[in-house]
Amino acid sequence: MYLVIDGKKISQEIKDELKEKAAAMKAQGEERCLAVIQVGSDPASTVYVNNKKKACTYIGINSLAYELPEETTEEELIGIIGELNERADVNGILVQLPLPKHINEERVLLAIAPEKDVDGFHPVNVGNLSIGRPGYVSCTPAGVIQLLKRSGIEIEGKECVVLGRSNIVGKPMAMLLLRENGTVTVCHSRTKNLKEITRRADILVVAIGKPKFVDESYVKEGAVVIDVGIHRNENNKLCGDVDFERVAPHTSAITPVPGGVGPMTIAMLMSNCMQ
Ligand code: NAP
Repeated sequence: MYLVIDGKKISQEIKDELKEKAAAMKAQGEERCLAVIQVGSDPASTVYVNNKKKACTYIGINSLAYELPEETTEEELIGIIGELNERADVNGILVQLPLPKHINEERVLLAIAPEKDVDGFHPVNVGNLSIGRPGYVSCTPAGVIQLLKRSGIEIEGKECVVLGRSNIVGKPMAMLLLRENGTVTVCHSRTKNLKEITRRADILVVAIGKPKFVDESYVKEGAVVIDVGIHRNENNKLCGDVDFERVAPHTSAITPVPGGVGPMTIAMLMSNCMQ
């Protein structure tokens, strides 16, 4: 029998711990504040931004919302970030992606002061992660580590395979598993003999952005499988990068979609805000 890792429950546990911490800080006269900037009115972004604001309210983190029109220029946006960088009462700055096409995302993310970069995307934070210094860590891979640890799954000495090498998931995921003393292999679209490598994994983390790509032929019997993917099918149903029905019976533990990695991202964002 396999364990279905309950991301909803674990993320709630983390949020409740953070709520207690925020209350204790408030009692000492200390507060946290997250500035959330959205440019344009992409409906998916609006949902994400609202969920982040809701999580702030739940925990007791102040939030400042900037809802900027689609035609905002890059200079205007960078100007606002510059002001927020200077404000002592703002601890975290988050720019909701994607940005409108006329704005260069990289320049905008670089404008955020690394000590306020709660998404962990700034090269300074990425560099700190890779050399084992403290700093903000990208929220989704940080959430995967929490799912493993809080489910009692040991990482040290395990053969860990990360499928995907994006800057926001695959690469930081690999660095975090290495930091936990896993033996880590990263696979990508040019990897040869993919199944041979994934079948070595004690812990397989899948983040390739392809619905139900991983079936049982990619998985060693008894492995732990973490599915980062999120897709909505034609019937508006969510699924991951892993074919859950086919893979689950061959695992010792697996994350479902929805209710696995997804809810962890906001919990870890809140954790970064409290850091
Ligand atoms: P991405 O930027 O598109 O990266 C996909 C990675 O998978 C790339 O490194 C690519 O290799 C690799 N890849 C693609 N096809 C492959 C194949 N056939 N064989 C082997 N490797 C292959 O995606 P991402 O941003 O990392 O996101 C991955 C998934 O996670 C998406 O479904 C996304 O929606 C989801 N996601 C979820 C959360 C959450 O909160 N749960 C957060 C972020 C992302 P190359 O580098 O060689 O192109």
